[in-house]
Amino acid sequence: MAATLRNLREDPVFVVPPFQLGVASGDPAADGFVIWTRLAPEPLRSGGGMPMVPILVKWEVAADEGFRTIVAKGDAIAHPELAHSVHVEVAGLQPDRPYWYRFQCGKERSLAGRSLTLPLPGARKDRVRFAVAGCQHYEEGHYTAWRKIAEEPVDFVFHYGDYIYEGRATGPGPRLMNGRIFSPLRQHVGDEIYSIDDYRRRYALYKSDADLQAAHAAAPWFVSFDDHEVDNNWASDIDQDGTPAEIFRYRRAAAMQAYYEHMPLRRSSMPMDGHMQMYRRAAFGDLMDAYFLDTRQYRSDQAQGDIDAPINAEVLSPHRTLMGDRQEAWLFGGLARGTARWQLIAQQVMLMQLAQHREGLAAPHYSMDQWSGYLASRGRLLDHIADRRLTNVLTVSGDAHRHFAGDVLRNGGEGPAVTSEYLATSITSGADGTGDGDAYHQSVSGNACLKAMTDRRGYLLCDVNRDSWRGDLKILDSVMRPDGQLSTFASFVSERGRPGLQRV
Ligand code: FE
Ligand code: CA
Repeated sequence: MAATLRNLREDPVFVVPPFQLGVASGDPAADGFVIWTRLAPEPLRSGGGMPMVPILVKWEVAADEGFRTIVAKGDAIAHPELAHSVHVEVAGLQPDRPYWYRFQCGKERSLAGRSLTLPLPGARKDRVRFAVAGCQHYEEGHYTAWRKIAEEPVDFVFHYGDYIYEGRATGPGPRLMNGRIFSPLRQHVGDEIYSIDDYRRRYALYKSDADLQAAHAAAPWFVSFDDHEVDNNWASDIDQDGTPAEIFRYRRAAAMQAYYEHMPLRRSSMPMDGHMQMYRRAAFGDLMDAYFLDTRQYRSDQAQGDIDAPINAEVLSPHRTLMGDRQEAWLFGGLARGTARWQLIAQQVMLMQLAQHREGLAAPHYSMDQWSGYLASRGRLLDHIADRRLTNVLTVSGDAHRHFAGDVLRNGGEGPAVTSEYLATSITSGADGTGDGDAYHQSVSGNACLKAMTDRRGYLLCDVNRDSWRGDLKILDSVMRPDGQLSTFASFVSERGRPGLQRV
Protein backbone atom coordinates (compact mmCIF):
# COMPACT_ATOMS: atom_id res chain seq x y z
CA MET A 1 0.00 0.00 0.00
CA ALA A 2 2.83 2.37 0.86
CA ALA A 3 4.31 2.17 -2.62
CA THR A 4 1.09 3.38 -4.22
CA LEU A 5 1.07 6.78 -2.49
CA ARG A 6 3.06 9.29 -4.53
CA ASN A 7 3.32 11.85 -1.73
CA LEU A 8 4.17 9.46 1.15
CA ARG A 9 6.86 10.63 3.54
CA GLU A 10 8.61 7.53 4.81
CA ASP A 11 11.29 8.90 7.10
CA PRO A 12 10.10 12.16 8.66
CA VAL A 13 12.28 14.11 11.08
CA PHE A 14 10.61 15.69 14.11
CA VAL A 15 11.85 18.60 16.22
CA VAL A 16 9.18 17.75 18.82
CA PRO A 17 8.15 14.10 19.38
CA PRO A 18 4.86 13.36 17.56
CA PHE A 19 3.29 10.93 20.07
CA GLN A 20 1.90 13.64 22.36
CA LEU A 21 -1.59 12.13 22.50
CA GLY A 22 -0.57 8.67 23.66
CA VAL A 23 -1.68 5.29 22.36
CA ALA A 24 -4.85 3.27 22.74
CA SER A 25 -6.36 -0.09 21.92
CA GLY A 26 -9.95 -1.16 21.54
CA ASP A 27 -12.66 -3.43 20.19
CA PRO A 28 -10.78 -6.64 21.08
CA ALA A 29 -11.69 -9.94 19.41
CA ALA A 30 -10.33 -13.43 20.01
CA ASP A 31 -7.59 -12.93 17.41
CA GLY A 32 -6.65 -9.27 17.87
CA PHE A 33 -7.69 -5.70 18.55
CA VAL A 34 -7.36 -2.19 17.16
CA ILE A 35 -4.27 -0.18 18.07
CA TRP A 36 -4.44 3.59 17.74
CA THR A 37 -2.28 6.65 17.83
CA ARG A 38 -2.26 10.11 16.27
CA LEU A 39 0.81 12.04 15.18
CA ALA A 40 0.57 15.53 16.68
CA PRO A 41 3.79 17.16 17.86
CA GLU A 42 1.86 20.36 18.64
CA PRO A 43 -1.61 19.05 19.54
CA LEU A 44 -3.45 22.38 19.83
CA ARG A 45 -2.20 23.78 16.53
CA SER A 46 -4.19 23.36 13.34
CA GLY A 47 -3.00 20.12 11.78
CA GLY A 48 -1.38 19.13 15.07
CA GLY A 49 1.89 20.65 13.89
CA MET A 50 2.23 17.99 11.18
CA PRO A 51 3.32 18.48 7.58
CA MET A 52 0.28 18.03 5.32
CA VAL A 53 1.41 14.81 3.68
CA PRO A 54 0.74 11.15 4.44
CA ILE A 55 3.33 9.72 6.84
CA LEU A 56 4.59 6.16 7.23
CA VAL A 57 4.19 4.73 10.73
CA LYS A 58 5.58 1.37 11.85
CA TRP A 59 3.87 -0.70 14.53
CA GLU A 60 4.72 -3.84 16.44
CA VAL A 61 2.95 -6.16 18.86
CA ALA A 62 4.87 -8.24 21.41
CA ALA A 63 4.04 -11.17 23.65
CA ASP A 64 5.99 -9.60 26.51
CA GLU A 65 6.31 -6.20 28.11
CA GLY A 66 9.99 -5.95 27.14
CA PHE A 67 9.25 -6.47 23.41
CA ARG A 68 11.63 -9.43 23.18
CA THR A 69 9.13 -11.60 21.30
CA ILE A 70 7.52 -9.65 18.46
CA VAL A 71 4.46 -11.54 17.23
CA ALA A 72 3.15 -9.05 14.66
CA LYS A 73 4.41 -5.91 12.96
CA GLY A 74 3.73 -3.80 9.92
CA ASP A 75 3.40 -0.39 8.31
CA ALA A 76 0.47 1.97 8.45
CA ILE A 77 -0.16 5.34 6.88
CA ALA A 78 -1.16 8.40 8.90
CA HIS A 79 -3.30 10.35 6.45
CA PRO A 80 -3.76 14.12 6.73
CA GLU A 81 -7.42 13.53 5.82
CA LEU A 82 -7.76 11.72 9.17
CA ALA A 83 -5.66 14.14 11.25
CA HIS A 84 -2.68 11.77 10.97
CA SER A 85 -4.44 9.20 13.12
CA VAL A 86 -3.53 5.53 12.78
CA HIS A 87 -5.94 2.63 13.28
CA VAL A 88 -4.40 -0.82 12.84
CA GLU A 89 -6.64 -3.88 13.12
CA VAL A 90 -4.17 -6.42 14.46
CA ALA A 91 -5.18 -10.03 13.73
CA GLY A 92 -3.71 -13.51 13.96
CA LEU A 93 -3.00 -13.35 17.71
CA GLN A 94 -3.70 -15.98 20.36
CA PRO A 95 -6.98 -15.77 22.31
CA ASP A 96 -7.39 -14.72 25.93
CA ARG A 97 -3.99 -13.24 26.71
CA PRO A 98 -2.25 -9.88 27.07
CA TYR A 99 -0.09 -8.24 24.42
CA TRP A 100 1.97 -5.06 24.25
CA TYR A 101 2.14 -2.69 21.29
CA ARG A 102 3.97 0.46 20.20
CA PHE A 103 4.51 2.68 17.18
CA GLN A 104 7.52 4.19 15.47
CA CYS A 105 7.70 7.13 13.09
CA GLY A 106 11.02 8.31 11.71
CA LYS A 107 13.36 8.00 14.67
CA GLU A 108 10.59 8.58 17.21
CA ARG A 109 8.98 5.81 19.20
CA SER A 110 5.73 5.88 21.19
CA LEU A 111 5.32 4.58 24.71
CA ALA A 112 3.98 1.04 24.87
CA GLY A 113 0.36 0.12 25.48
CA ARG A 114 -1.06 -3.11 26.85
CA SER A 115 -4.06 -4.85 25.34
CA LEU A 116 -5.81 -8.21 25.61
CA THR A 117 -7.49 -10.60 23.24
CA LEU A 118 -10.87 -12.14 24.07
CA PRO A 119 -11.32 -15.87 24.72
CA LEU A 120 -12.54 -17.95 21.80
CA PRO A 121 -16.34 -17.83 21.51
CA GLY A 122 -17.78 -20.47 23.83
CA ALA A 123 -14.45 -21.26 25.50
CA ARG A 124 -14.58 -21.63 29.26
CA LYS A 125 -13.90 -18.36 31.04
CA ASP A 126 -14.17 -17.97 34.81
CA ARG A 127 -13.71 -14.28 35.43
CA VAL A 128 -13.93 -10.93 33.65
CA ARG A 129 -13.31 -7.57 35.29
CA PHE A 130 -14.07 -4.22 33.75
CA ALA A 131 -14.47 -0.53 34.52
CA VAL A 132 -17.31 1.74 33.37
CA ALA A 133 -16.63 5.46 33.09
CA GLY A 134 -17.34 8.62 31.10
CA CYS A 135 -18.42 12.28 31.41
CA GLN A 136 -14.97 13.83 31.66
CA HIS A 137 -15.47 17.59 31.45
CA TYR A 138 -11.96 18.98 31.14
CA GLU A 139 -12.62 22.13 33.15
CA GLU A 140 -14.23 20.42 36.12
CA GLY A 141 -11.48 18.34 37.66
CA HIS A 142 -8.37 16.23 37.55
CA TYR A 143 -8.59 12.89 35.72
CA THR A 144 -7.54 11.06 38.89
CA ALA A 145 -10.22 8.46 38.27
CA TRP A 146 -8.52 7.53 34.99
CA ARG A 147 -5.21 7.14 36.86
CA LYS A 148 -6.96 4.81 39.32
CA ILE A 149 -8.58 2.82 36.50
CA ALA A 150 -5.15 2.42 34.89
CA GLU A 151 -4.03 0.74 38.13
CA GLU A 152 -7.03 -1.63 38.32
CA PRO A 153 -6.65 -5.21 37.02
CA VAL A 154 -9.36 -4.87 34.36
CA ASP A 155 -9.86 -6.78 31.12
CA PHE A 156 -11.49 -3.79 29.44
CA VAL A 157 -12.96 -0.33 29.93
CA PHE A 158 -16.42 0.65 28.72
CA HIS A 159 -16.66 4.38 27.98
CA TYR A 160 -20.33 5.35 28.00
CA GLY A 161 -19.77 8.76 26.39
CA ASP A 162 -19.20 12.48 26.96
CA TYR A 163 -15.52 11.97 26.15
CA ILE A 164 -15.40 15.68 25.28
CA TYR A 165 -17.76 18.57 25.95
CA GLU A 166 -18.56 20.90 23.10
CA GLY A 167 -18.95 24.16 25.04
CA ARG A 168 -16.71 27.21 24.94
CA ALA A 169 -14.06 28.05 27.53
CA THR A 170 -16.10 29.25 30.50
CA GLY A 171 -13.53 31.63 31.93
CA PRO A 172 -11.80 31.31 35.28
CA GLY A 173 -14.94 31.85 37.35
CA PRO A 174 -16.09 31.73 40.03
CA ARG A 175 -19.64 30.71 39.15
CA LEU A 176 -22.45 28.68 40.65
CA MET A 177 -22.52 24.92 40.06
CA ASN A 178 -25.28 22.86 41.70
CA GLY A 179 -25.78 25.64 44.19
CA ARG A 180 -22.14 25.90 45.17
CA ILE A 181 -19.37 28.31 44.22
CA PHE A 182 -17.10 26.75 41.61
CA SER A 183 -13.97 27.95 39.82
CA PRO A 184 -12.87 25.80 36.88
CA LEU A 185 -9.68 23.84 37.41
CA ARG A 186 -8.58 24.34 33.80
CA GLN A 187 -9.98 25.82 30.63
CA HIS A 188 -11.31 24.68 27.29
CA VAL A 189 -9.55 26.35 24.37
CA GLY A 190 -11.75 28.53 22.22
CA ASP A 191 -15.45 28.95 21.56
CA GLU A 192 -18.17 26.28 21.17
CA ILE A 193 -16.95 23.78 18.57
CA TYR A 194 -18.50 23.32 15.12
CA SER A 195 -15.83 22.65 12.49
CA ILE A 196 -13.72 19.54 12.06
CA ASP A 197 -10.65 21.50 13.20
CA ASP A 198 -12.54 22.69 16.31
CA TYR A 199 -13.47 19.11 17.26
CA ARG A 200 -9.92 17.88 16.57
CA ARG A 201 -8.45 20.54 18.80
CA ARG A 202 -10.91 19.65 21.58
CA TYR A 203 -9.91 15.96 21.44
CA ALA A 204 -6.25 17.00 21.36
CA LEU A 205 -6.78 19.10 24.50
CA TYR A 206 -8.49 16.28 26.39
CA LYS A 207 -6.09 13.61 25.17
CA SER A 208 -3.07 15.62 26.29
CA ASP A 209 -3.95 14.57 29.86
CA ALA A 210 -1.44 12.02 31.21
CA ASP A 211 -3.97 10.21 33.43
CA LEU A 212 -6.35 9.66 30.51
CA GLN A 213 -3.43 8.42 28.39
CA ALA A 214 -2.45 5.99 31.15
CA ALA A 215 -5.94 4.46 31.22
CA HIS A 216 -5.94 4.05 27.43
CA ALA A 217 -2.51 2.41 27.53
CA ALA A 218 -3.49 -0.02 30.29
CA ALA A 219 -6.34 -2.00 28.69
CA PRO A 220 -8.52 -2.18 25.59
CA TRP A 221 -11.61 0.04 25.55
CA PHE A 222 -15.05 -0.31 24.06
CA VAL A 223 -16.07 3.26 23.40
CA SER A 224 -19.48 4.74 22.69
CA PHE A 225 -20.54 8.33 22.24
CA ASP A 226 -23.37 10.05 24.03
CA ASP A 227 -24.47 13.62 23.39
CA HIS A 228 -21.57 15.97 24.13
CA GLU A 229 -19.31 14.45 21.47
CA VAL A 230 -21.65 16.29 19.09
CA ASP A 231 -24.00 18.69 20.93
CA ASN A 232 -25.92 18.58 24.21
CA ASN A 233 -28.91 16.19 24.00
CA TRP A 234 -28.88 15.78 20.21
CA ALA A 235 -31.17 13.12 18.74
CA SER A 236 -30.67 11.68 15.26
CA ASP A 237 -30.37 14.82 13.07
CA ILE A 238 -31.99 17.19 15.55
CA ASP A 239 -30.03 19.46 17.89
CA GLN A 240 -31.26 21.25 21.01
CA ASP A 241 -31.45 24.66 19.39
CA GLY A 242 -33.83 24.09 16.49
CA THR A 243 -31.15 24.19 13.80
CA PRO A 244 -32.48 22.85 10.46
CA ALA A 245 -31.55 19.18 10.11
CA GLU A 246 -29.69 19.67 6.84
CA ILE A 247 -27.46 22.21 8.58
CA PHE A 248 -26.99 20.28 11.85
CA ARG A 249 -25.83 17.31 9.75
CA TYR A 250 -22.68 19.24 8.78
CA ARG A 251 -21.80 19.65 12.43
CA ARG A 252 -22.65 16.03 13.24
CA ALA A 253 -20.46 14.83 10.35
CA ALA A 254 -17.51 16.90 11.61
CA ALA A 255 -18.05 15.60 15.14
CA MET A 256 -18.26 11.97 14.02
CA GLN A 257 -15.15 12.21 11.87
CA ALA A 258 -13.14 13.68 14.75
CA TYR A 259 -14.55 11.03 17.11
CA TYR A 260 -13.46 8.25 14.76
CA GLU A 261 -10.04 9.86 14.32
CA HIS A 262 -9.41 9.85 18.07
CA MET A 263 -10.85 6.48 19.15
CA PRO A 264 -9.52 2.91 18.80
CA LEU A 265 -12.37 1.86 16.50
CA ARG A 266 -12.49 -0.64 13.70
CA ARG A 267 -12.90 0.43 10.09
CA SER A 268 -16.46 -0.89 10.28
CA SER A 269 -17.22 2.10 12.52
CA MET A 270 -15.73 4.68 10.17
CA PRO A 271 -18.34 7.38 9.41
CA MET A 272 -20.14 6.83 6.11
CA ASP A 273 -22.90 9.01 4.68
CA GLY A 274 -23.38 10.79 7.99
CA HIS A 275 -23.59 7.68 10.18
CA MET A 276 -21.28 5.51 12.26
CA GLN A 277 -21.88 1.85 13.07
CA MET A 278 -21.45 1.96 16.84
CA TYR A 279 -23.71 -0.74 18.22
CA ARG A 280 -21.77 -3.96 18.40
CA ARG A 281 -21.30 -7.13 20.39
CA ALA A 282 -18.38 -8.89 22.07
CA ALA A 283 -18.25 -12.43 23.47
CA PHE A 284 -16.08 -13.20 26.51
CA GLY A 285 -15.94 -16.97 26.03
CA ASP A 286 -18.83 -18.75 27.72
CA LEU A 287 -18.93 -16.24 30.58
CA MET A 288 -20.42 -13.04 29.19
CA ASP A 289 -21.88 -11.57 26.03
CA ALA A 290 -21.72 -7.79 25.89
CA TYR A 291 -23.98 -5.57 23.81
CA PHE A 292 -22.76 -2.01 23.33
CA LEU A 293 -25.69 0.16 22.30
CA ASP A 294 -26.06 3.45 20.44
CA THR A 295 -28.92 5.44 21.96
CA ARG A 296 -28.25 8.71 20.07
CA GLN A 297 -28.16 8.12 16.33
CA TYR A 298 -31.51 6.41 15.86
CA ARG A 299 -33.65 7.97 18.59
CA SER A 300 -36.80 10.01 18.13
CA ASP A 301 -36.62 13.61 19.26
CA GLN A 302 -37.04 14.06 23.01
CA ALA A 303 -40.66 14.48 24.10
CA GLN A 304 -42.13 17.64 25.65
CA GLY A 305 -39.27 19.89 24.56
CA ASP A 306 -36.72 17.81 26.53
CA ILE A 307 -37.45 19.23 29.97
CA ASP A 308 -38.24 17.02 32.98
CA ALA A 309 -41.98 16.43 32.76
CA PRO A 310 -44.83 14.12 33.77
CA ILE A 311 -45.64 11.10 31.60
CA ASN A 312 -48.06 11.94 28.80
CA ALA A 313 -49.27 10.30 25.58
CA GLU A 314 -46.16 11.39 23.65
CA VAL A 315 -43.83 9.68 26.15
CA LEU A 316 -45.87 6.49 25.81
CA SER A 317 -46.21 6.57 22.03
CA PRO A 318 -45.18 3.30 20.36
CA HIS A 319 -44.12 5.35 17.33
CA ARG A 320 -41.20 6.86 19.23
CA THR A 321 -37.96 4.92 19.66
CA LEU A 322 -34.67 5.14 21.56
CA MET A 323 -32.69 2.48 19.67
CA GLY A 324 -34.33 2.39 16.26
CA ASP A 325 -36.00 -0.72 14.85
CA ARG A 326 -32.89 -2.39 13.42
CA GLN A 327 -30.79 -2.05 16.55
CA GLU A 328 -33.70 -3.21 18.70
CA ALA A 329 -34.23 -6.33 16.58
CA TRP A 330 -30.47 -7.03 16.68
CA LEU A 331 -30.37 -6.71 20.46
CA PHE A 332 -33.53 -8.74 21.09
CA GLY A 333 -32.38 -11.54 18.77
CA GLY A 334 -28.98 -11.69 20.42
CA LEU A 335 -30.35 -11.72 23.95
CA ALA A 336 -32.88 -14.44 23.12
CA ARG A 337 -30.27 -16.70 21.50
CA GLY A 338 -27.48 -16.00 24.01
CA THR A 339 -25.89 -18.98 25.70
CA ALA A 340 -23.29 -17.21 27.85
CA ARG A 341 -23.71 -17.29 31.62
CA TRP A 342 -24.22 -13.52 31.72
CA GLN A 343 -25.43 -10.88 29.28
CA LEU A 344 -24.31 -7.26 29.61
CA ILE A 345 -26.17 -4.35 28.08
CA ALA A 346 -23.74 -1.41 28.06
CA GLN A 347 -25.30 1.87 27.01
CA GLN A 348 -25.47 5.59 27.67
CA VAL A 349 -28.51 6.72 29.67
CA MET A 350 -30.51 5.64 32.73
CA LEU A 351 -32.80 2.63 32.27
CA MET A 352 -34.42 2.90 35.69
CA GLN A 353 -37.55 5.01 35.61
CA LEU A 354 -36.82 7.46 38.42
CA ALA A 355 -39.74 9.58 39.53
CA GLN A 356 -38.80 13.05 40.77
CA HIS A 357 -41.11 14.29 43.52
CA ARG A 358 -40.79 17.98 44.16
CA GLU A 359 -42.77 20.16 46.48
CA GLY A 360 -45.54 21.98 44.68
CA LEU A 361 -45.67 19.53 41.77
CA ALA A 362 -48.87 17.55 41.39
CA ALA A 363 -47.36 14.72 39.32
CA PRO A 364 -43.88 13.18 39.45
CA HIS A 365 -41.48 14.38 36.76
CA TYR A 366 -39.19 12.25 34.61
CA SER A 367 -36.16 12.87 32.42
CA MET A 368 -37.13 13.07 28.75
CA ASP A 369 -33.55 12.35 27.58
CA GLN A 370 -33.30 8.97 29.33
CA TRP A 371 -35.29 5.73 28.83
CA SER A 372 -38.04 7.31 30.97
CA GLY A 373 -38.75 9.60 28.01
CA TYR A 374 -39.14 6.60 25.67
CA LEU A 375 -41.44 4.33 27.64
CA ALA A 376 -42.58 2.19 24.70
CA SER A 377 -38.93 1.32 23.90
CA ARG A 378 -38.25 0.70 27.57
CA GLY A 379 -41.35 -1.48 27.93
CA ARG A 380 -40.45 -3.60 24.90
CA LEU A 381 -36.93 -4.21 26.24
CA LEU A 382 -38.09 -5.17 29.74
CA ASP A 383 -40.92 -7.34 28.38
CA HIS A 384 -38.42 -9.11 26.14
CA ILE A 385 -36.08 -9.86 29.04
CA ALA A 386 -38.88 -10.89 31.42
CA ASP A 387 -41.03 -12.88 28.99
CA ARG A 388 -38.07 -14.99 27.87
CA ARG A 389 -37.01 -15.48 31.50
CA LEU A 390 -33.56 -14.04 30.81
CA THR A 391 -32.44 -13.93 34.43
CA ASN A 392 -28.79 -13.23 33.63
CA VAL A 393 -28.91 -9.68 32.22
CA LEU A 394 -27.09 -6.75 33.83
CA THR A 395 -27.05 -3.21 32.49
CA VAL A 396 -24.54 -0.38 32.87
CA SER A 397 -24.91 3.25 31.84
CA GLY A 398 -23.87 6.79 32.69
CA ASP A 399 -24.67 10.39 31.78
CA ALA A 400 -26.24 11.48 35.07
CA HIS A 401 -23.04 12.66 36.82
CA ARG A 402 -23.61 10.68 39.99
CA HIS A 403 -23.59 7.02 40.92
CA PHE A 404 -26.89 5.17 40.88
CA ALA A 405 -27.38 1.46 41.53
CA GLY A 406 -30.74 -0.23 41.54
CA ASP A 407 -33.19 -2.71 40.11
CA VAL A 408 -35.07 -2.16 36.89
CA LEU A 409 -38.81 -2.66 37.31
CA ARG A 410 -41.57 -2.72 34.75
CA ASN A 411 -44.28 -0.08 34.37
CA GLY A 412 -42.64 2.39 36.68
CA GLY A 413 -42.27 0.12 39.68
CA GLU A 414 -44.40 -2.98 39.44
CA GLY A 415 -43.38 -6.56 40.12
CA PRO A 416 -39.97 -8.11 40.70
CA ALA A 417 -36.65 -6.90 39.29
CA VAL A 418 -36.31 -7.67 35.58
CA THR A 419 -32.63 -6.70 35.55
CA SER A 420 -30.39 -4.34 37.50
CA GLU A 421 -28.55 -1.20 36.55
CA TYR A 422 -25.27 0.35 37.57
CA LEU A 423 -25.18 3.93 36.36
CA ALA A 424 -21.54 5.00 36.70
CA THR A 425 -20.78 8.49 37.92
CA SER A 426 -18.64 10.95 36.00
CA ILE A 427 -14.86 11.13 35.86
CA THR A 428 -15.01 14.91 36.48
CA SER A 429 -18.29 16.44 35.30
CA GLY A 430 -19.93 18.18 38.25
CA ALA A 431 -16.57 18.73 40.01
CA ASP A 432 -16.61 17.57 43.65
CA GLY A 433 -20.38 17.29 43.74
CA THR A 434 -22.73 17.59 46.67
CA GLY A 435 -22.48 14.09 48.13
CA ASP A 436 -25.82 12.93 49.48
CA GLY A 437 -28.68 15.24 50.17
CA ASP A 438 -29.16 18.02 47.63
CA ALA A 439 -32.59 18.85 46.18
CA TYR A 440 -32.33 16.32 43.34
CA HIS A 441 -31.22 13.61 45.75
CA GLN A 442 -34.24 14.31 47.95
CA SER A 443 -36.57 14.33 44.95
CA VAL A 444 -35.68 10.77 43.81
CA SER A 445 -34.66 9.06 47.05
CA GLY A 446 -38.15 7.59 47.53
CA ASN A 447 -37.94 5.39 44.42
CA ALA A 448 -38.19 1.78 45.59
CA CYS A 449 -35.95 0.50 42.77
CA LEU A 450 -33.00 2.66 43.85
CA LYS A 451 -30.48 1.08 46.21
CA ALA A 452 -27.59 3.56 46.23
CA MET A 453 -26.88 7.04 44.92
CA THR A 454 -24.16 9.63 45.50
CA ASP A 455 -22.93 12.79 43.83
CA ARG A 456 -19.20 12.10 43.81
CA ARG A 457 -16.74 11.54 40.94
CA GLY A 458 -15.30 8.11 40.15
CA TYR A 459 -16.15 4.97 38.21
CA LEU A 460 -17.80 1.59 38.41
CA LEU A 461 -15.85 -1.63 38.76
CA CYS A 462 -17.48 -4.93 37.80
CA ASP A 463 -16.15 -8.37 38.71
CA VAL A 464 -18.01 -11.08 36.82
CA ASN A 465 -17.68 -14.69 37.94
CA ARG A 466 -19.56 -17.79 36.88
CA ASP A 467 -22.35 -17.47 39.42
CA SER A 468 -22.06 -13.97 40.81
CA TRP A 469 -21.54 -10.45 39.56
CA ARG A 470 -20.08 -7.84 41.88
CA GLY A 471 -20.26 -4.09 41.34
CA ASP A 472 -18.17 -1.56 43.30
CA LEU A 473 -19.10 2.12 43.19
CA LYS A 474 -15.69 3.80 43.38
CA ILE A 475 -15.52 7.44 44.47
CA LEU A 476 -12.88 10.14 44.97
CA ASP A 477 -13.03 12.59 47.85
CA SER A 478 -11.90 15.34 45.48
CA VAL A 479 -11.07 15.94 41.83
CA MET A 480 -10.16 19.59 42.44
CA ARG A 481 -6.91 18.49 44.09
CA PRO A 482 -4.46 16.27 42.18
CA ASP A 483 -4.19 13.74 45.03
CA GLY A 484 -7.84 12.72 45.50
CA GLN A 485 -8.34 9.67 47.70
CA LEU A 486 -10.21 6.66 46.32
CA SER A 487 -12.77 4.69 48.29
CA THR A 488 -15.74 2.39 47.69
CA PHE A 489 -19.09 4.07 48.30
CA ALA A 490 -21.14 0.86 48.06
CA SER A 491 -20.86 -2.69 46.72
CA PHE A 492 -23.51 -5.06 45.46
CA VAL A 493 -23.69 -8.64 44.26
CA SER A 494 -26.14 -10.28 41.86
CA GLU A 495 -26.59 -14.03 41.72
CA ARG A 496 -27.01 -15.59 38.32
CA GLY A 497 -30.65 -16.62 37.86
CA ARG A 498 -31.92 -14.19 40.53
CA PRO A 499 -32.19 -10.64 39.16
CA GLY A 500 -31.62 -7.93 41.77
CA LEU A 501 -28.81 -6.20 43.62
CA GLN A 502 -27.88 -7.36 47.10
CA ARG A 503 -25.77 -5.02 49.16
CA VAL A 504 -22.50 -6.45 50.50
FE1 FE B 1 -21.96 14.16 30.84
CA1 CA C 1 -24.55 12.87 28.36
